[in-house]
Amino acid sequence: MNSSEVLDVLIIGSGPAGLAAAVYAKRANLSILVAEKEYLGTGQIAETDQVDNYLGFSKINGYDLGEAFRSHAEDLGVEFFEGMADGFEKTDDIWSVHFADGQTIRARAVIYCAGASHRHLGVDGEEDYIGKGVSYCAVCDGAFYRGKDAAVIGGGDTALGDALYLSDLCDKVYLIHRREEFRGSAASVQRLKEKENVEIITSAVPARINGEQTVTALELKDGRTIPVSGTFVAVGMQPQTEYLHGVVELDETGYIVADETGVTSAAGFFAAGDVRTKALRQVVTAVSDGANAAVSAAEYLK
Ligand code: NAP
Repeated sequence: MNSSEVLDVLIIGSGPAGLAAAVYAKRANLSILVAEKEYLGTGQIAETDQVDNYLGFSKINGYDLGEAFRSHAEDLGVEFFEGMADGFEKTDDIWSVHFADGQTIRARAVIYCAGASHRHLGVDGEEDYIGKGVSYCAVCDGAFYRGKDAAVIGGGDTALGDALYLSDLCDKVYLIHRREEFRGSAASVQRLKEKENVEIITSAVPARINGEQTVTALELKDGRTIPVSGTFVAVGMQPQTEYLHGVVELDETGYIVADETGVTSAAGFFAAGDVRTKALRQVVTAVSDGANAAVSAAEYLK
């Protein structure tokens, strides 16, 4: 795009929230651009094997659902820009968004939908073995562990979904959770209990990940050692807001303070999807956030 051009809305992020915002903003006849960190991205949903709670689809592969969202935006003529937004300034009601490659895009409103990234466990060995037995995405890397033993760490929906997915590939899957009760859905816990090759280990805290060239075992704080070739870490997400300090109000855990309208503490800066303060982080709420934020942005621009 022309560097002197000022867009109506710059949407940051091409997950379900960003794509929904793009569809609504485009249909409201606004000039928009979607900036995305990864070429042809659809967000975290692409890493989800099966989505079975998005209305209208009792079972759909996450990648396929993401592609359907993206095609919808593309069919409307939405344009995309690949870049990592790392600076935000506002002068005379115009937002200047700076990107890591040195480019700047200007817009009268920003809808920020950058989502969240995988939290790390923080134990010894974890960083050393990333890509050599430590993974944060079962759907992306699970195939490397076909016929082998793997551990999944976490007790939320991601960990439960990962364990279910891996149970169809791996010889044995250990699900390691630090408490007795699971945070994720009871239905998934039940399905895992019915799997013969899944062992659920609760009240267990990982101490370190051991290996040679690649991972060989997971050590627990109680002294147990679990021999595995793969360790899938699914201990939650961290909002991608590191460049927003001082730009917009964040809560104590880094999420952008905003309700379902997407309105934030900074005029003309809207937040949608997993990156904002909310109770339920799901595809359906991300999509609804995107729609709301686009409508809020359109109102603001009037
Ligand atoms: P989450 O719900 O925040 O769960 C994180 C899990 O990791 C918790 O069980 C937590 O234990 C555990 N944990 C955190 N830090 C840990 C540590 N240092 N050591 C060991 N365990 C640790 O995260 P999520 O599972 O990624 O899900 C994020 C959101 O996406 C949720 O709202 C979830 O419902 C949603 N989601 C939905 C679907 C779906 O519906 N298909 C799929 C995936 C995700 P505690 O329980 O003890 O805190």
